[in-house]
Amino acid sequence: MKKEIDNFFLTILTVLITVIALSTLARAASVNSYISAHHYSPATITKQIWKGFPRYRYRHGKGKPEGVVIHETGNPSSTIFDEIAYMKKNYRNAFVHSFVDSNHIINIANTDYLCWGVGYPGNARFLQFEQTEMHSKKSFAHEVENAAYYTAYLLKSYHLKPNDAVYDGKGTVWSHGAVAKYLGGSDHTDPVGYYKRAGRKYFHKAYTMNQFYKLVLTNYDDM
Ligand SMILES: [Zn+2]
Repeated sequence: MKKEIDNFFLTILTVLITVIALSTLARAASVNSYISAHHYSPATITKQIWKGFPRYRYRHGKGKPEGVVIHETGNPSSTIFDEIAYMKKNYRNAFVHSFVDSNHIINIANTDYLCWGVGYPGNARFLQFEQTEMHSKKSFAHEVENAAYYTAYLLKSYHLKPNDAVYDGKGTVWSHGAVAKYLGGSDHTDPVGYYKRAGRKYFHKAYTMNQFYKLVLTNYDDM
């Protein structure tokens, strides 16, 4: 009898642990699952190259970037068009190659040349784009899909293999935060805080660079 009771409790315990693990997994994947469930197709990549940006070669030469850096503007009230106009005025301080939001992927600086988004030494190595802040579940999901698709597109275009650099400082897919942590050049942490906040607000769970990287892989494999 004692043994049967033990077995009974062991079974209950196993079921409970499985349920908890599965529900955690389901919540953790919710942004990416939502995107795949809704069959989002990414925005068309629009080229609006502005001639005013300086053109300097990457450290390995023209058209030889080593990876992609994902940024977020940190401005809760600006649109993609506000940000692009601001950048053209203030490019001497900083500029990136492209901007992404829920409906647009706009390339404003020639990606064969470096940009100034993460300081030294990252600027001489990476393609870089900014995301503007979105304010609904649907628009956040669309933006993240556009960003992952554009990252995969850039990797493919420059014959770079996907490799998550965020946890070890080596690879082709970087957050600005990871560049700052492993290579220096600034003390910025984006887009981690924005992903965490928007994920919690709209999906009840922080979105992470790790999940974003998985979405990049999905897009890369589909190309
Ligand atoms: Zn940044």
